Amino acid sequence: MSSYDVAVIGSGPGGYVAAIRCAQLGMKTAIIEKYDTLGGTCLNVGCIPSKALLDSSHHYEDAIKHFDEHGIELGEVKFSLEKMIARKQGVVDMTTKGIDFLMDKNKIDVFHGVGSFKDATHVDIADANGKKQTIEAAKTIIATGSKPSTLPFISLDKERIITSTEALKLKEVPKHMIVIGGGVIGLELGQVYKRLGAEVTVVEYMDRIIPTMDKAQSKELMKVFKKQKVKFALSHGVTAVERDGNEVKVKATNKKGEEVEFIGDYCLVSVGRRAYTDGLNLEAAGILTDNRGRVEVNAYLQTKVSNIYAIGDVIKGAMLAHKAEEEGVFVAETMAGQKPHIDYNLIPGVVYTWPEVASVGKTEEQLIEAGVAYKAGSFPMRALGRSRASGDIDGFVKILADKTTDEVLGMHMVGARAADLIAEGVTAMEFRASAEDIARMSHPHPTYTEAVKEAALAATADRALHI
Ligand code: FAD
Ligand code: NAD
Repeated sequence: MSSYDVAVIGSGPGGYVAAIRCAQLGMKTAIIEKYDTLGGTCLNVGCIPSKALLDSSHHYEDAIKHFDEHGIELGEVKFSLEKMIARKQGVVDMTTKGIDFLMDKNKIDVFHGVGSFKDATHVDIADANGKKQTIEAAKTIIATGSKPSTLPFISLDKERIITSTEALKLKEVPKHMIVIGGGVIGLELGQVYKRLGAEVTVVEYMDRIIPTMDKAQSKELMKVFKKQKVKFALSHGVTAVERDGNEVKVKATNKKGEEVEFIGDYCLVSVGRRAYTDGLNLEAAGILTDNRGRVEVNAYLQTKVSNIYAIGDVIKGAMLAHKAEEEGVFVAETMAGQKPHIDYNLIPGVVYTWPEVASVGKTEEQLIEAGVAYKAGSFPMRALGRSRASGDIDGFVKILADKTTDEVLGMHMVGARAADLIAEGVTAMEFRASAEDIARMSHPHPTYTEAVKEAALAATADRALHI
């Protein structure tokens, strides 16, 4: 029987990063993945393929809507969904092969098969042909991630009543896609198909889209989406989803208690994801889950069984690739006797629509609820020369700072390249910068980053220069 210092179950961004860090720290490491390709949800059916389709559909939208403004005449512009999906798959394949390379480079043994606990120090691995083997592991990291969740009354047929996984490989552009859930997946994939010509209706339970982000971001993104003719039914609780041939009917109850019906040809169910522990046989190792099926861990990300850790989507917290990666490194370094640290307040959140939406730290609603005295400074993207040059004038940067100390407590933005701009907020907050610190730093002109400096000026002394 092969014996390892560490076995990692699951090869998503949590698992493969944990395995690399363990190997770097001199541990003999194995990684177990039930699918043929490594990379987990993120690389195969999540972050990477969704961004590839967002980029392709964005190019198409620019060609049909914006090239003309730039004096570029193309004549008739057509697209092939088949080619877009094939390109997306090419990007995925290249990226997952990169993980094979990294496993090889770091001398990590890769096992393909379902991993399940035999006991606290042995993991059984059953491959697709039913062949079984057992490995011994002094320590194990559970990194089995998550799967799409649904509503109890919905029967996902994966043809017309679909999750993000199927939406990433449709064979046709829907005529009318009904999106249940105005969160990250619903808006990103809704925007892909809207750009390609589908009618899109988002049915959202809460009274705003992206409800966990700052309210100003929900409002701005909604305004832009409405301009793009996406329809919204907010404060609507879905009660039934039925398929009749090629038609899908979604019933919902609105704020007044009335029943409303939406008819489309596809329904994307994007109401969140659930921790995935099926087949792990957690009981055999004595590991507990909480009331949402997530593996319970302490502050060291250690389960009830001291040699078994868990990271990423399968435990509590934001379901984000970079959060899973941080936890992978954290656990490897903890095992090696180091004292790593994660500041969960500084895990940024991004929605890759266009304009992009990005946040770090506390929202204004959270500060109000916590009774923190704060000041806010905002700067609109449309006031930037860079935005006017590119034509990306929607959005703003908002900085929230402590009223007395001026320490930055939150940064929230909507705009071109916000996903990249937010890194400045993370860095500033990691070093506990004040709004004035940011305001006094030179930002290159003309760039979108100037909106960060201007918002900091507005927050620190109400003295933005360009508005
Ligand atoms: P996962 O990536 O889910 O990986 C878990 C792996 O474990 C899987 O490969 C699974 O097959 C394997 N596994 C499970 N059980 C077993 C077992 N018993 N034996 C062996 N293997 C097993 N996050 C971002 O930060 N940015 C984004 O832009 C983004 N976009 C997304 C878009 C979509 C459409 C979706 C669905 C998600 C997106 N996410 C994004 C979320 C991101 O994908 C997850 O947060 C991330 O993948 C979690 O990483 P993980 O390692 O915890 O688990
Ligand atoms: P989400 O939590 O972002 O959004 C789900 C939405 O569905 C919420 O707005 C919620 O109020 C709504 N909802 C729940 N029940 C409903 C009902 N009965 N009727 C109508 N609306 C209902 O979840 P998601 O969009 O499915 O994404 C899942 C996870 O994947 C997220 O946690 C996210 O972190 C991750 N993800 C991240 C990215 C990114 O980082 N860019 C992209 C995609 C997915």
